[in-house]
Amino acid sequence: MRKKMVAGNWKMYKTAGEAAILVQNLEDVARDVLGDVEVVVAPPFTALHSVSTVIALDKSPIRLGAQDMFWEEEGAYTGEIAPRMLSDLETSYVIVGHSERRAYFGETDEIVNRKARAVFAHGMTPIVCCGESIETREAGAEADFIAGQIRAGLAGIETMDAMKLVIAYEPIWAIGTGKTASPEQAEEVCAHIRALVCEIFDDVVAARVRILYGGSVKPENAALFFAQPDIDGALVGGAALSVEAFAPIVVAARP
Ligand code: PEP
Repeated sequence: MRKKMVAGNWKMYKTAGEAAILVQNLEDVARDVLGDVEVVVAPPFTALHSVSTVIALDKSPIRLGAQDMFWEEEGAYTGEIAPRMLSDLETSYVIVGHSERRAYFGETDEIVNRKARAVFAHGMTPIVCCGESIETREAGAEADFIAGQIRAGLAGIETMDAMKLVIAYEPIWAIGTGKTASPEQAEEVCAHIRALVCEIFDDVVAARVRILYGGSVKPENAALFFAQPDIDGALVGGAALSVEAFAPIVVAARP
């Protein structure tokens, strides 16, 4: 039985102070679903420390995520964040290969793979994102496209690590657009991803890997996605920025 995960990607929103208040305000709902749903928040880098401090002081069940990471240990890489800087803040998860990073910052599957392997090497867990554009979907080529991203993104990952892996299927045309994939469309791709994981690793890994859906998940539609057999939760953008929108999504993930 895979524990559901609801992860909030706060993108480039919230100062350190605002982020600390939001995570505090999410603690009640995270305690209510404790044991059933893992709640993750991924604030911007400048707010990781304040959010990490609140989580530690309040003994909060909320897990800390980062939105990105560089793979090198340290060095002259202006503007980048090293793995140890995140693990030092008790970061549990790192989002890698978000479509916004791929589109605006030129991240390739090879970069995503290097990052994912570095995340595991530092005792954290990557949330590896994949997803097709509207053109790819309209051409009926989404299954092959996703297979390419998954095979390249997961290359060289050890089986023991892969057991902990989280994959987020986020069709680009559904991110921040208010358009969602239908639950059936999302399930079809998530089942395809699970089959790929089985091929790349084995059936034990495939049974354990959590696959999230992302793309305009809201309180009104979350339960429909969570009811699908291969969807183990959600990666949430816009609706993760307020307690009013995020808390009902977390509750909807409870079995
Ligand atoms: C995301 O950024 O991962 C995302 C799914 O955004 P939104 O929920 O706003 O579509």
